[in-house]
Amino acid sequence: DAAINRIAAGEVLERPASAVKELVENAVDAGATRIEVVIADGGKTLIRVTDDGCGIAASDLPLALSRHATSKIDGSDLLNIHSFGFRGEALPSLGAVGRLTITSRVPDADAASIDVAGGKMSDVRPAALSSGTVVELRDMFYATPARLKFLRTDRAEAQAVGDVIKRLAMAEPFITFILRDASNGDNRTTFRADAQTGDLFDALHGRLQTVLGREFAENALAIDAERDGFHLTGYAALPTYSRGAAIAQFLFVNGRPVRDKMLLGALRAAYMDVLSRDRHPVAALFIDCEPTLVDVNVHPAKSEVRFRDPGTVRGLIVSGLRHALAGAGH
Ligand code: ADP
Ligand code: MG
Repeated sequence: DAAINRIAAGEVLERPASAVKELVENAVDAGATRIEVVIADGGKTLIRVTDDGCGIAASDLPLALSRHATSKIDGSDLLNIHSFGFRGEALPSLGAVGRLTITSRVPDADAASIDVAGGKMSDVRPAALSSGTVVELRDMFYATPARLKFLRTDRAEAQAVGDVIKRLAMAEPFITFILRDASNGDNRTTFRADAQTGDLFDALHGRLQTVLGREFAENALAIDAERDGFHLTGYAALPTYSRGAAIAQFLFVNGRPVRDKMLLGALRAAYMDVLSRDRHPVAALFIDCEPTLVDVNVHPAKSEVRFRDPGTVRGLIVSGLRHALAGAGH
């Protein structure tokens, strides 16, 4: 059983950043307005995610740690996925690869805590916490030195954690995100994005300014287009603000960060006439549609997607962006 957990864990959890992604997505799903992540040694020795979301009832703690237990889907409806989590795999997997402690509190109840290490669960015990959930993962891969060896330097792993948080922060401008580094007894804030207010476009613009910088925000065109049930929103930079490296395209489908060749290709095609071959566009684009129009179940890490009608999505991106670029005189 512990072995099955470890095998399944390997598909979802490759490195500290993948653990952080799962935990922060859980906090978003829980309706948090503030999510704080603390890591030490690139996340290898410590990952702690604190949220002010709905919490987990004490009696549900063991369930949350059981494989395929998810409160978010009933199993018969895999095509109709609204929340980030839907596999019920993250927490049991984390409990299989490190020393996991969950402390949580739901309104009008006492806080409680549970530990898992080596796939073995403790009893639920009383704890102190004012609200929300704290999930702490210590010593990731401590029992599997072979996997530990594949991790990169603390610095590189910390950078990957930062990238994951920045991507999730772009998709959730109304949530405050804080990343701190507690290596060597330190407590440095390495990233902070305060919750934005106003309408979605204002909030997104403000959030992108925090994450991608003032220069991007000043050169960004608002994108807002729709076609056959697909809605495209976000910001795309003027061609004059393009990059020499292909690392500045941020794409989201139904709020999830994705890396998808078709979507990237559509983005490039939209800029084809206004950018030379060695330049890359900068954009943060959000595609939203009914969950039945897209399959996010392609890969355990959930970063690939498969659209029912890729041609429509490609056309929407190309025409939506070209329209905005033309309006700006390009
Ligand atoms: P999934 O997210 O796919 O449902 P997880 O293993 O990530 O599976 O989480 C299992 C369950 O634990 C969730 O369905 C949810 O009910 C609960 N849970 C996990 N993290 C949190 C959190 N931060 N706040 C509230 N509930 C949580
Ligand atoms: Mg989850």
